[in-house]
This record gives sequence, structure tokens and C-alpha cells, in this order.
Amino acid sequence: MNAPLVRFWGVRGSFPAALDSCRTLGGNTACVEVEWQGHHLILDAGTGIRKLGERLVAEPPAHPLHLLVTHPHWDHIQGFPFFAPAYSPEFQLTVHSLRRKNKLKHLLSDQQQATFFSVPVERMQSELSFQEWDEGEPFTIGPFQVQTWRLNHPGICSGYRIQMGEHVLAYVSDVAPSTDYLLADALPGRPTRQQALKRLFENQLRLAENAHTVIYDTFFTTQQYEQRSHWGHSTLEQALDVCKRGKVKNLFMFHHNAEIEDAQQFERLQQCQAPKGLKVFAAQEGRTVACD
Ligand SMILES: [Zn+2]
Ligand SMILES: [Zn+2]
Repeated sequence: MNAPLVRFWGVRGSFPAALDSCRTLGGNTACVEVEWQGHHLILDAGTGIRKLGERLVAEPPAHPLHLLVTHPHWDHIQGFPFFAPAYSPEFQLTVHSLRRKNKLKHLLSDQQQATFFSVPVERMQSELSFQEWDEGEPFTIGPFQVQTWRLNHPGICSGYRIQMGEHVLAYVSDVAPSTDYLLADALPGRPTRQQALKRLFENQLRLAENAHTVIYDTFFTTQQYEQRSHWGHSTLEQALDVCKRGKVKNLFMFHHNAEIEDAQQFERLQQCQAPKGLKVFAAQEGRTVACD
């Protein structure tokens, strides 16, 4: 059976970067495609989704499309108004997210109010639907078994664990370590700060545990993290720690910070001390990797 494929369409964090120093890894914001057995999952709708949309229109897949959104920060939804399949009656598109009071359906709709964009969501002609899930609730999309868990990041943000046969892919963008600031809002059950941080830390491990591939927020250098630990992002060293605990095989640095030149990202990669059994890569726009 063919191995699941992971394609990076956007790897930048926070804002798109049209800079020479970012050309190797790519300038578009978060969007990752997972393809297996003819089914397609899309992780986040940053600006990278525009180009993916062009490809999907040119080569329509046999099955409906599913978009899994981690949270509504702009770098994860700003490509949605430019996603061509959403405008085509030929496509069925389901947008999945964690259940939240401020519904994603309304947030995407707000993003396309007439003041900001020329076409409202209601006029997009695909068969568009929205699906919300509780934390940890397992759900199935074609051959994929999926769960979503809250992460320590400002507002309400979750990561996805995707089981594909014997392989697990974990998508953990965006996340701060659960050691310093509590950034997540509205956690169910009104936990104390300490309980909340413990729970959020366990969630990172649940997502990554025994994963074949983990895509993880490595936005900060250690020095940057010290200055901006309240921003909600992690370092490569923090990602390595989670992957070591989870016995992960492959780690992709993700949500790249445009303040760090690509050449420097590769230096971080080369100098990092990966635990035995873990291979570390930098997610690169346009690159496809097989989970095998
Ligand atoms: Zn982000
Ligand atoms: Zn964010």
C-alpha cells in the first residue's frame, strides 16, 4: 500500500515573507496537505493554501476535501479567501475545528465581510460545511483517524494527531512550552494555572506519542524565546524534548520565523542535538515527504 504523503505549501509563521533570505524555505504561511489512498486532508489555511487550491482545481481529487484548522490567527486562515476550490460547485469542502464559543464559521465569515474582502463566505459556491469536535474526541475522515488537543497558545488553539494505518502524523503549530506562561484561554473545567499547564503539557505528549512524523512550532531561537516567551511559540530544543519523550522518528521544524534567515535555520538544524532515533528536518515549501 502506498505511503501517506505530506506536502508543505506554507511553512512561515506569523506573517508571509517576501524576502531573499527566506526564499529557500519559502515565504507562505501555514498550510500542509496530507494525501493517502486518494483522500486529502489540509492542515490550516495560511497563504500557502492558494497554490494548493490551484493544483486541486487542475487535478480534482475523487473524494471531498477536508480542512483542519488549528486556530483563527491570521497566518492560519488568511489564505482561505483565495482558495479556489471553495468557489467551485464541483467541490465539497468540510472545515473542521475544535468546538469553540466563537465559532470558526463566523470567524471566517467575519474575515470576508465586505469591508475586508469582495466576496462573502456565503457566496462561495462549493458545498461548504463546518464540523466541530470536542477535545480528544476521535473522528474519521476517509482512511484517517483524527483527534485534536488544546495547546498552550494565546486564545483557543489545538493540534491534530492523524493516524494513517500504522503511521501517526502530529501537527503541532502553534505552541508555547507549558513551563512559563499560561496563554491558553477558556480551558474547560476551570483548572488552576498549575493544573492547566500540566494538562497542556500532557496534550503535547498525547499528540506526539510514537508518531512517525511531527510538524512542530520552532519559531524562536533560545535567545528570542527568553525575550518573548509570552508570544506563544517554542524553540527547536523544546520540540526535541517533546519528540524525545514521545519516541518520535521524524521532526519537521515549522512555523519559521522570517527574522531568522534560512541559512541560519539550517545552522540550527545542523547544530541541534537530536536524541537517538530522531531525524530532524526543516519544513520547506514545495517539498513532499513520504511517511514510510
Ligand atoms: Zn501561527
Ligand atoms: Zn497563533
